[in-house]
Amino acid sequence: MFNIRCPWCGDRPEIEFSYGGDASRSRPDAPETLSDDAWHDYVFIRDNPAGPHAEYWQHTGGCRQWLRALRNTTTHEILATAAPGEPLPLSGERK
Ligand SMILES: [Zn+2]
Repeated sequence: MFNIRCPWCGDRPEIEFSYGGDASRSRPDAPETLSDDAWHDYVFIRDNPAGPHAEYWQHTGGCRQWLRALRNTTTHEILATAAPGEPLPLSGERK
């Protein structure tokens, strides 16, 4: 078992959280200009990275807030967490 730092509750056991998906993607700026193939790729095609990966998690067994986590997919270590809309430390993101 490992802990995840909820931005609102602090360090909590991972069993209190639910995985919410890939947080490294952003919605296309002009979706009306996308082809069907480009939409297909945006909706269904995912990378399978080995190493740090930005993910959405929800603190379902606690405050029920959504957060983003930078998780090493090979070790499951949570490297950083942040509230949605905030830069994710160690990911290279900026506000
Ligand atoms: Zn929480």
